Amino acid sequence: MRTPIIAGNWKMNKTAVEAAAFISQIRDGLNAVSGVDIAVCPPAIAIPAVAEAVKGTKIGVGAQNMYFEESGAFTGELAPNMITPFCQYVILGHSERRAYFGETDEGVNKKIKAALAHGLTPMVCVGESLEQNEAGETHSFVSGQVKAAFAGLTADQAAACVIAYEPIWAIGTGRTATVEQAGSIIGGTVRATIAEILGDDVAQQIRIQYGGSVNEKNIAELMAHPDIDGALVGGASLKPTFVDLVANAA
Ligand code: PEP
Repeated sequence: MRTPIIAGNWKMNKTAVEAAAFISQIRDGLNAVSGVDIAVCPPAIAIPAVAEAVKGTKIGVGAQNMYFEESGAFTGELAPNMITPFCQYVILGHSERRAYFGETDEGVNKKIKAALAHGLTPMVCVGESLEQNEAGETHSFVSGQVKAAFAGLTADQAAACVIAYEPIWAIGTGRTATVEQAGSIIGGTVRATIAEILGDDVAQQIRIQYGGSVNEKNIAELMAHPDIDGALVGGASLKPTFVDLVANAA
């Protein structure tokens, strides 16, 4: 039985002060929801304030990125041990990082290994562009991303990860994939690829979220699909109605 996980990706929104104030607004509501794991992923500089604000609750904290090296001359980057005092999760390979900051499959693979070595749960993002979707390339592209991300991982390491299937055309566009579309790629491509490379047991254990314009209205329908184990939520995680979204997921 996989416990669903709803994670809010705040992207480059909310200062540390705003983030802590927002948590004080939503923390009791989120903490009252059972049956689902919850995480919020603020901008890096707000992570300590958010970690302090969620203390004593079931709300987890995630970083939106990290580097794979332990320390050194990597200006602007954060090492795993800089986030572990505050975070349980780290989003890796988000399509915005792949598109705007040159993240590669190889780099994402290194980051996943580093995160696991430090006891963090990676939330590994995969997903196709609109052009790839319309060209019928979704299966081969997403399967390739999963294979590259999980290359060299043991079954136990892979089972400890979360995957977020996020079709790029659905992120921030208000255009959600239908339950059938999301469920068939998550089951028939993402979970099937994990089964192919790491075996059925891992494929049944690993949690796979859907991401792309999820809100408090469409979450219940998405969650009803047996292969969808939660959501990575952008815009709708920035508002107090995120509590309703999480409650409707549970
Ligand atoms: C995301 O940030 O990963 C995302 C899915 O954003 P949104 O929910 O706004 O589409």
